[in-house]
Amino acid sequence: MNKVLIAGGGGFIGNHLVKYLKEMGTWVRAADLKKPEFSKSIADEFLIGDLRDPNFVSKCFDSGIDTVFQMAADMGGFLFIFSGQNDADIAHNSALINLNIAKQSVNSKIKKLFFSSSACAYSQDFQTSTDHHGLKESQAIPANPDSVYGWEKLFSEFMYDSFRRNYGLNIRIARFHNIFGINGTIDGGRQKAPADICRQAAMAKDGDSIFLVGDGEQTRSFLYIDECVEGIMRLMDSDYFKPVNIGSDEMVSINQLARMVIEISGKNLKIEYMDSFQGVRGRSSDNTLIYSHLGWKPTKKLYDGLIKTYNWINQTINK
Ligand code: NAD
Repeated sequence: MNKVLIAGGGGFIGNHLVKYLKEMGTWVRAADLKKPEFSKSIADEFLIGDLRDPNFVSKCFDSGIDTVFQMAADMGGFLFIFSGQNDADIAHNSALINLNIAKQSVNSKIKKLFFSSSACAYSQDFQTSTDHHGLKESQAIPANPDSVYGWEKLFSEFMYDSFRRNYGLNIRIARFHNIFGINGTIDGGRQKAPADICRQAAMAKDGDSIFLVGDGEQTRSFLYIDECVEGIMRLMDSDYFKPVNIGSDEMVSINQLARMVIEISGKNLKIEYMDSFQGVRGRSSDNTLIYSHLGWKPTKKLYDGLIKTYNWINQTINK
């Protein structure tokens, strides 16, 4: 990698990647609608613009970019993705970004492109119980994602793969499973479950409640941002071009997640439930494939990542 473009470099994962690559001595250009929310970007160049616009995308690839990390998407947490109210924008905006980037990558003859897909691409038929054993990459097809967000990811995976087959585009695709950590979105509707629960706990007083959607028994796994970045870089260094999970296989219920956060907060808090849609019943990452191809899989404990995340959120909102 000589010159890297991080599309979506103002976002949570994109900005962590900028930092990692800069520390490795790589020249980095970030492109996004906005600068990072919490920490200053240390990218060599930061282009503000709309990646739905092919002219802006063309500028982003100027002057010798050879590697692209495509982290831009119209996305958010659970309420944003699953309310149904943002489906048209999610599909339209993210598909346009990916269509533009695939085409420009071929025009600019870039050496390698990373695409950030999602566990939401998996068929909901395999996620109906709280005690399942992790999603295998093969369980995306036959397709039946439970959100338009997931359908767009699946479409874009196939689209990038067709650019690989027809135009020789050198791709790497990861399906992220609930990435969390410091400098992620805390509120406003686009925050993820760990940040939302940490924020509620940080703002609460002894005796208050924190609120969960559904009955809290739905299960998920959560991967701390540092291991996500490590997984991305290891995948980029490999020759594996098919979609692969980057996620934790430490599955917990949302109740267990909340109890961990309450314990970390050191407060005496109750849990209450909101009657709301709750997404699939159970989801976790099967890491057999990543381990067999990269000789590596995430191993860090959820609790350790939650301590860092809670402390950062507590400091940020109580400043
Ligand atoms: P994020 O929302 O923090 O970052 C996405 C960035 O894309 C934002 O900064 C946003 O401004 C930018 N963007 C959106 N539309 C744009 C446009 N039209 N032009 C320019 N920039 C635009 O999200 P994230 O958590 O950092 O996720 C990064 C990638 O990983 C996304 O593709 C996301 O779908 C995928 N992913 C994330 C998770 C997770 O748990 N965070 C899970 C699965 C997949």
